[in-house]
Amino acid sequence: MKIDYDFHIHTEYCGHAPTMTIEAICRRADEAGLRMIAITDHTTQPDKQAPVEQIRRLVEQFRPRCQVIIGAEIDVDGQRDDGRLTVEDFSGLDYVVAGFHYVPTKGHYPWKPEQRGLDEETFLRVWEKTLLGIVSNPAIDTLAHPGRLLASCMQLDVHGERALKVFQEAAVLSAKNEIAWEINELTGSRLAHNGLSFWIRLYQIALEAGVRLIFGSDSHEPESIGSCTFAQEILRHLPSDALSKPEDLPATKRWKNPI
Ligand SMILES: [Zn+2]
Ligand SMILES: [Zn+2]
Repeated sequence: MKIDYDFHIHTEYCGHAPTMTIEAICRRADEAGLRMIAITDHTTQPDKQAPVEQIRRLVEQFRPRCQVIIGAEIDVDGQRDDGRLTVEDFSGLDYVVAGFHYVPTKGHYPWKPEQRGLDEETFLRVWEKTLLGIVSNPAIDTLAHPGRLLASCMQLDVHGERALKVFQEAAVLSAKNEIAWEINELTGSRLAHNGLSFWIRLYQIALEAGVRLIFGSDSHEPESIGSCTFAQEILRHLPSDALSKPEDLPATKRWKNPI
């Protein structure tokens, strides 16, 4: 199945994606034949928000063939364990993705278990509480890269089963609050060594609870826009209609002026 949209794309404004000018993003999306993209740059703090109006202006200037939705990936507050976002005013955003990046209560970004900074039990406790808090917020459209923080911090072959039970609970809340889960390509390239079976189970759990799945590359360079090797691998193990279209998202109702 061809994936003809990409709903998680960063820009040069995030500070760690220097080649991602708005023009380069639009050009690449058109080259890749995508019909719709969402630009979802990082919002980490109230004073470090994605410059959505500037992005919108530049997209309007470039006028790509594909439709462009302007949203943001808003950080979950790493200083707490209740899943609240660092910014709760979503004005100007047509799509809100929640990014669970930091070890709850510690606030740092871990790449591997040695960087977890908490013992396993404590980590699992704050991780669970935070995840369930995030998906209790109906203002969020999509949970970015579910499982990525967990897979960075824990051995999935040891703790995967317990975590999947938490994801079951999270899926029920997500369905109730109409929060989609992302199949995130960057997670695959970073964490594929953790085995496919965990990720397939994760998305099966989502589907069984009635959670929509939405694709995002999480691109930080133009070449990655629309690339979906990991996502396709997962989708091969799921029902043929597992992946939702952006138009199926409740967020669509808010899209007053998609470009
Ligand atoms: Zn993220
Ligand atoms: Zn991202």
